[in-house]
Amino acid sequence: MTGKAECVFCGIAAGKIPCTRVYEDDRVLAFMDIGPISDGHTLVIPKAHYERLDQCPAEVLAETAAVIGRLAGPVAEAVGADGYNVLCNNGSAAGQVVEHVHFHIIPRKAGDGVFNRWPAFQYPQGKAEAIAEKIKEKLKS
Ligand code: 5GP
Ligand code: ZN
Repeated sequence: MTGKAECVFCGIAAGKIPCTRVYEDDRVLAFMDIGPISDGHTLVIPKAHYERLDQCPAEVLAETAAVIGRLAGPVAEAVGADGYNVLCNNGSAAGQVVEHVHFHIIPRKAGDGVFNRWPAFQYPQGKAEAIAEKIKEKLKS
């Protein structure tokens, strides 16, 4: 298993740094976030060290996603939440602080104001299609 000496989540996965665990198998770990933004805020990580989502092998993502799917309902129900967000920050521009890929399960209650800014806008004519073309080109390489 790949690990990185200075990585806090590798330390947690290896049992060297304490955490409040909610689920564990050979390759995936879920534990309570130490700085929650709502009650029940849970983190799900692959135990192996990958910095970003796009660096994770497909099978690692599949295993992690399966655990997220299994846990999301119980996490929300445990705190009487009406819903939940699943969030994965990638890169410091996107708010990633811990550089070991992780998924936040964030229980939500109506009107809780947890994400009260969603800066939606409208593309000018043709821009969405131009970006879509670039994405499809990148997918080929
Ligand atoms: P990011 O901003 O990188 O997506 O989120 C990192 C998350 O990890 C934060 O919500 C933060 O509270 C949590 N976190 C950072 N260090 C620790 C730790 O040592 N233990 C636990 N349980 N959570 C941590
Ligand atoms: Zn790590």
